[in-house]
Amino acid sequence: MRFIVLGGGITGLSAAWFLKKKNPGAKITLLEKESRLGGWIRSSHDGGFFFEKGPRTFQAGRSPHLISLIQELELELIRSNPASAKRFILYKGKLRTPASFLPMLIPYAIRELFIPKGQKEDESIYDFASRRFSPKIADLFFDPLTLGIYAGDIHKLSIRSCFPALYNWEKDKGSVMKGLFSSPKKAKGLFTLKGGMETLIQALEKRLDIDIVLNCAVEKFDDHEVIAGGKTWAADHVISALPPKLPTKSIWVVNLAFEGDVLKKKGFGYLIPTQEKESVLGAVFDSAIFPEQNQRGESRLTFMVREEETHPLEAALSALDRHLQIGAKPIYSSLFLAKNAIPQMEVGCGYTEGLSVDGCILRGKRLV
Ligand SMILES: Cc1cc2nc3c(=O)[nH]c(=O)nc-3n(C[C@H](O)[C@H](O)[C@H](O)COP(=O)(O)OP(=O)(O)OC[C@H]3O[C@@H](n4cnc5c(N)ncnc54)[C@H](O)[C@@H]3O)c2cc1C
Repeated sequence: MRFIVLGGGITGLSAAWFLKKKNPGAKITLLEKESRLGGWIRSSHDGGFFFEKGPRTFQAGRSPHLISLIQELELELIRSNPASAKRFILYKGKLRTPASFLPMLIPYAIRELFIPKGQKEDESIYDFASRRFSPKIADLFFDPLTLGIYAGDIHKLSIRSCFPALYNWEKDKGSVMKGLFSSPKKAKGLFTLKGGMETLIQALEKRLDIDIVLNCAVEKFDDHEVIAGGKTWAADHVISALPPKLPTKSIWVVNLAFEGDVLKKKGFGYLIPTQEKESVLGAVFDSAIFPEQNQRGESRLTFMVREEETHPLEAALSALDRHLQIGAKPIYSSLFLAKNAIPQMEVGCGYTEGLSVDGCILRGKRLV
């Protein structure tokens, strides 16, 4: 049988992988519009420092499909430094741990146990969090969390699509807190791939016995025919692993490296609620999470900056100085605009596939 897979990101490559496993004799052609495979998965060694431009960290307890694919491909995982479990939130210009908000949080958490279930099929993250907890909790915790994952607006994004576990806890258990306490304990910690996430793409490309056509943009397709790269391609089945048709957000990814250990606070990084009125969404302390990826004891950080910012590097350096009290000059910096990278699952869109790498691998499996 002949198959055509559209899109050479992790979803398309996973679909080809599962298709070959199920049907080793399948003739597969994968069409990709760029000159490289991998989509948003992109690792860099520019300037002698390791950085991910796209996905970098995965929760051990929430990535079963990614872990299983990594094992099948016999790639090497690295685990996060336990100290990176600590996360920070910027509050009134200072970094604070979520635990420092506990005295304020506990009364809302107890009250939430007794709040009746909502009746709506879907609502915004803000409306959900305000109804079950309070508008203050929505702005202080749900907003930065949403910005950190989706770079989007909690007033527009759907609770059902973006945080399905919370939505289902309310539906099934009657309360988010009840769901949280009764859900099975998941493995803790983060992991990544030893040589960077792009080794996953390289391993798939090497192991997949398929025809890969790069620089071939798909213009039109149906179940059996594709118009791409100026010609018509025919197959028994066409599998589309193109990005979902949803509105998108772009973000600036600013990578910075410093000589020696300049990070005064150790942890995963920090997130910034909208109410702080910053153009930076947050930062990840790469060198503290995966020290094995350091070259010579340097500090590596990645700032995510709102797409509207016209001077993203300066914005990141200013945040570094004001929030982390790091005045040192970076020995390496790079800027990357991840254009239209983050699909926005707005209220009522009905989209329920996960947008994480793990969710994409599952989508690849389901497509097959
Ligand atoms: C900065 C950033 C950080 C992230 N961090 C994390 C993280 O830490 N953890 C996590 O789990 N996820 C993270 N993600 C999300 C994750 O990277 C994506 O969900 C995932 O890589 C999407 O894979 P995909 O194959 O579905 O789509 P894409 O990566 O978008 O791949 C789609 C492919 O289709 C191709 N294509 C598009 N249109 C056409 C066309 N017309 N014809 C032919 N080819 C076409 C594209 O060129 C691309 O190669 C992050 C994303 C970004 C941008």
